[in-house]
This record gives sequence, structure tokens and C-alpha cells, in this order.
Amino acid sequence: MSWRIDWDGVTYDVPQRDSQRQRVYDAEHLCFHWHRNTRQLRNLSLEQLQMLTDGLWESEVVKGLLRKARRRPDQRAPEVRLDKANARWARGCAAYIKLPPWALNIHTVIHEVAHAIAPLGAKHNWMFAAVMLELVEEFMGLEWRTRLELNYENHGVRFAPRKDQISKDTWAVAADRR
Ligand SMILES: [Zn+2]
Repeated sequence: MSWRIDWDGVTYDVPQRDSQRQRVYDAEHLCFHWHRNTRQLRNLSLEQLQMLTDGLWESEVVKGLLRKARRRPDQRAPEVRLDKANARWARGCAAYIKLPPWALNIHTVIHEVAHAIAPLGAKHNWMFAAVMLELVEEFMGLEWRTRLELNYENHGVRFAPRKDQISKDTWAVAADRR
């Protein structure tokens, strides 16, 4: 089953199943795990992570991504909350990000912020991965983006559409215009 999601003015037929999730987790884990001793990236306070999220939200990059995803331009930054220590995953939606104590780091916040920005229903599909790469570049630097992109590629994570995912109606409209 697929559904239609708009991204940057084009409609795509996207599978409803969250088929890339595990590959995204694995790629990101491997990418950021190498640097678990990089102190400034880890063990941050909730206040620091909220400031980071608010800073992200004010950026032109996020404004541009919200437009591409057809999110409301006045959507507020998600609130960063602490989850229970035994929570298995960090969680996020447009309103809040819930982090267990073991996930108080920049890349997890960026992952959850990417969920708040990516179109509804995108889950961990290529639109999500494209948002993630832009956020990582903007807030961790080009070097990290390059590393993450390489890890996505090595794990078979797509961060761009396949041609056949562009909705047939969109092709028809494009053909009419010619
Ligand atoms: Zn996720």
C-alpha cells in the first residue's frame, strides 16, 4: 500500500510501510557511535538540548525544509522532555521530543527534530533522510553530513526519490505543460 505525499511541490507515491527504519537506525548508530567520546556531542542537559532545538528552529534551513514539507511556517519548535530511563527509544512528534537519559545527545535530537519537520506519514523514508542530512550539515558540519551520507549509502538507505515514486498524475501534468 502506498500513499501520496507532497515534497517540494511534487507529489510522490510512497509506501506506507516504514521499510527503511532499521537501516536508518543502523546507519546513524554506526556513524555517530564512532565518536561516542566526543564530549561536546553527548551528555548534554535538557536545557542545552532545548536551546539547540530552538536554535535549529530559527534557522533558514529549517524554514526552507518546513516549506518543502508543506508544514505550517509558524509551527513551533518541539519541546524537549526527559523520558524514563528504561524507555527503549527516543520519540518525537511536531509538539515534543522525549529523550531517555541515555539519549541526551545532538544527533538524537536532530533525528527527532527531523521527524517534526518531515511531511506527515514520511516515517523514515527518503524524505526523512533528506531532512536529516540537511540538519546534520547545518548543525554538525559538512564533515558529519558526508559521513552520514556514506553510512546511509552503505546501509541502502535512500535519501532521494526513485523516479517511479513520482505520482503518475504529476507526470501527466508535466507532460501537458510541454
Ligand atoms: Zn525515528
